[in-house]
Amino acid sequence: MMRELLTARRLVALFVVLLALGPLVLPEFHVTLLNYIGLYALVALGLVLLTGVGGLTSFGQAAFVGMGAYATAWLTTAAGLPAWLANPWGGLAAGLLLTALVALLLGALTLRLSGHYLPLGTIAWGISLYFLFGNLEFLGGHTGIGGIPPLSIAGVELRDGRHFYYLIWVVLLAALWLSSNLLDSRAGRAIRALKGGVVMAEAMGVDTARAKMIVFLVAALFACLSGWLYAHLQRFVNPTPFGLHIGIEYLFMAVIGGAAHVWGALVGAAVITVLKQWLQDLLPQLFGASGNFEVIAFGLLMIFVLHRARDGLWPWLARWLPAAGGAHRPAGAEFSGEPLPRRAVPAAGTPLLEVRDAVTQFGGLVANDRMSLHVDAGEILALIGPNGAGKSTLFNLITGVNPPTSGEVRFRGERVDGRSSRAIAHLGMSRTFQHVRLLPGMSVLENVALGAHMRGRHGVPSAMLHLEREEEARLLAEAARQCARVGLGEHLRDAAGSLPLGKQRIVEIARALAADPCLLLLDEPAAGLRFLEKQALAELLKQLRAEGMGILLVEHDMEFVMDLADRVVVMEFGKKIAEGLPHEVQNDPAVIEAYLGGVE
Ligand code: ADP
Ligand code: MG
Repeated sequence: MMRELLTARRLVALFVVLLALGPLVLPEFHVTLLNYIGLYALVALGLVLLTGVGGLTSFGQAAFVGMGAYATAWLTTAAGLPAWLANPWGGLAAGLLLTALVALLLGALTLRLSGHYLPLGTIAWGISLYFLFGNLEFLGGHTGIGGIPPLSIAGVELRDGRHFYYLIWVVLLAALWLSSNLLDSRAGRAIRALKGGVVMAEAMGVDTARAKMIVFLVAALFACLSGWLYAHLQRFVNPTPFGLHIGIEYLFMAVIGGAAHVWGALVGAAVITVLKQWLQDLLPQLFGASGNFEVIAFGLLMIFVLHRARDGLWPWLARWLPAAGGAHRPAGAEFSGEPLPRRAVPAAGTPLLEVRDAVTQFGGLVANDRMSLHVDAGEILALIGPNGAGKSTLFNLITGVNPPTSGEVRFRGERVDGRSSRAIAHLGMSRTFQHVRLLPGMSVLENVALGAHMRGRHGVPSAMLHLEREEEARLLAEAARQCARVGLGEHLRDAAGSLPLGKQRIVEIARALAADPCLLLLDEPAAGLRFLEKQALAELLKQLRAEGMGILLVEHDMEFVMDLADRVVVMEFGKKIAEGLPHEVQNDPAVIEAYLGGVE
């Protein structure tokens, strides 16, 4: 009964009402605590997007908070500045601008490098800015800057914590809304693919470097905004709250709250803030001495959470809440967006792909040894050969995942060897992966919609404001159509990772088709499928061929291949050992030798 009455929407509304009543009934101390929770949650929200969703770790968020705080502190207190700049709004604009510039610079230096460069870069940034704040004379050194004027909005001066409370929570709720809008969009899917799906996303035409930059920038701007609010709430700043250890605390909040969920930022900020308050009172009494014992307690808590609840507290809390309604639960019939425009299909027989003398070397191993093949529009070329023959390597070579050591690849008349897989995808080549590369926690529909990424235009700002709903509806409708086409119509809302492996391969096919390719590369699509599913797949591929699609197919099931392929290329030890019509290849002594190891 409770569950039916409490839809997610109503729960949020209830939460907002309770928040609004807060300052009217709570004592001063609790209002102050809630103010700080709001400010911290705003920073933690940026980290949820950056670290939890995007998989990029920053220890330097406190420095961005400091930048927002110091920018407005200095501008509103320094003498001799023009009045249009020397006010809190000028301070906000300057802080955001400065933060954006620094984030872009820092991002450009570290984001392209993989691994630990970003965390290390943000640590260096966090430390150096902290000392900069402390050592710059005009920023008041370690004493800081006092006398910051209060904010006034629509003639009301926010001198009092109870007034400021409303501003903080309106800003935070707006940021939560913008963030969840963002995640539920084309741009958001690109960001969600960053954690563990970069190769796949690039193959779907996503500019992952740009997506990283954007999420880094958004997180930095949220932090800056929190700093601006802080400066005008406190009306005094010094370097202490912007040091590296506070940067680590923000990361704690995001991780403990539930790093991949926007509401987790709020939970994390609340838990850490309240706990810190409580421990700061309790621990010194317990140990009979003063000291920052809470740091140790946090460390232990962090280990415990990472051990017992990897995804933080939010998913655990969310189990007791009603499922989110709206965009995430419909059955599929309502995806009725206008069909997306399609690429002009080359006439059957038009040469699409031409690989000439392609070589891939891994150290001493020649995985592709002067391989040549071609695929025309409206034909299925099967590429077969024993395990380790170099078929998947050739796929990676053609699609730009691993550029060839030497040789040439032409696609639709253009040289594409050496180009990025994203650039090649944009020309109309799409693929599946032998080792399935889905985003397992994301729905089947959203995984497939990622394939249609190149067919949308709207970026982050319109996604955050949900001004791209028409395009989004068209992208999801296209994804739903492709799912229906491959027989996944019943699974649109299932998490992709919950499907059996065979079906996951089919999701990959739908995703590749959503890109509207003219050449499709399928790496063992039938592995793990049952007989009837294989038949359905064969029918689908025949239909695609009839529509003029070129298909390069790697498959081990010989019956499947021989029934379907127009031509067959056989590889062994990286080399082409036979090529021809299916029945010719089947009777080729070299092929029989390769497959049976010489046994007659
Ligand atoms: P197939 O798909 O035909 O089974 P692969 O293309 O996956 O074969 O592999 C061909 C050979 O290249 C194998 O010997 C494999 O171990 C090797 N290989 C594949 N990828 C790499 C890599 N990234 N680094 C080193 N060796 C690799
Ligand atoms: Mg393979």
